Amino acid sequence: MSVGNKKKSKRRQTRKPRVKDLLDFIEAYSGKLGREVFQFLLKRGEEVSDEELKEKLGVEREDELRRVLYELHSLGPVVYRRVHVLEQNRYIFMWKVDVNLVNQALLQRKREVLERLRMRLNYEENTTFYVCPRCGNRLSFEEAMEHDFTCPRCGEMLVYEDNSDVKEVLRRLVNELEKEIEVEERALYAN
Ligand SMILES: [Zn+2]
Repeated sequence: MSVGNKKKSKRRQTRKPRVKDLLDFIEAYSGKLGREVFQFLLKRGEEVSDEELKEKLGVEREDELRRVLYELHSLGPVVYRRVHVLEQNRYIFMWKVDVNLVNQALLQRKREVLERLRMRLNYEENTTFYVCPRCGNRLSFEEAMEHDFTCPRCGEMLVYEDNSDVKEVLRRLVNELEKEIEVEERALYAN
């Protein structure tokens, strides 16, 4: 019977994390090395020691690698274990990616994006804008008033801007993201 297999592949489909999102976030937070280390650990899918990471990724500075690893750990999806090597009487660290934590980190990232979009929407809803027809400079009503409704960049007369298109796009994005987060939260905390 192939019932078991079917179930498994279906689950995998709905749970597939958008790793590229996370990789970009990691790179912004922890630099290129952070991205490389995370990708390496993710591919491997099991514990890897500091030493192997250093060797396989060709990292010259050990302190740099350590810094990146702790950063990835503080971000959430990377966990470590300290192992005592008896024969050498020293400790090594074993690192790996926890896939469940990856999903949580992705979800957290989405919540942050949603928060920013909401703030942006709020700003657009509560602000009257004036734009410069020549150079595209965009000012709030207060800023425009300060400059007697002329563009501070090029001197052109400013005109009132109807920002309902901007608001509509933002509202749609907020809506979509809210739904996405809701679905993912349900999947993540269901079991
Ligand atoms: Zn202008």
